[in-house]
Amino acid sequence: MLYIAKRPTDSKLWNYYLLYKLSLVKQSILGVFYIEKLGYYGPVLDLDEKDLEKVSDIVLPLDEDIVLESLLVTCRRCGWCCEANSGSFLFNSELTYLRSRYPRLSERLRRYSWVRLYDGSRVKIWHLDTGPHGRCMFYNPLERRCLIHEAKPVVCILTYCARFAIDRHGNRYVRVGTADERGRVRFRRAGGST
Ligand code: SF4
Repeated sequence: MLYIAKRPTDSKLWNYYLLYKLSLVKQSILGVFYIEKLGYYGPVLDLDEKDLEKVSDIVLPLDEDIVLESLLVTCRRCGWCCEANSGSFLFNSELTYLRSRYPRLSERLRRYSWVRLYDGSRVKIWHLDTGPHGRCMFYNPLERRCLIHEAKPVVCILTYCARFAIDRHGNRYVRVGTADERGRVRFRRAGGST
């Protein structure tokens, strides 16, 4: 069954809670979609019963037809959001997978803090933006690529591209991609408020 994550708000407690919960079902995230009918950008998930139990309080059921008519927000791998002021971080719960995939790279993690969640609990996060000008420690600027692509944090999976978010007339847009039957992605602007 398809679901969409509830909206972020101005509350850090809620937003961390949303992200943390989504990190628990990361493998079920199909991507961030621009749902034109709802005027909403959000992560769409394909959840089985077991995973639904983990996140039932942060998702809403979504009609499959609505998703088919929607646009997938696509990463163009320009590195813009990793290069500077990345603000990237990893939940401690994501560490096991990172260690299993990239044992040597995971040893680079040094700086962590604790964040409070909406339900009153606290979770540990590892800061990745420790390079020059806030560059992510797992970004290779020469090759312009993520070194932990297979295990990238949920915050990176869900951050949609904002590089082209503001057009010349001051309206806010993001680029979204649609794939044709041969899998080629064409870009167009979709927008309104983000
Ligand atoms: S983990 Fe990868 S995708 Fe995320 S900010 Fe770092 S380099 Fe970019």
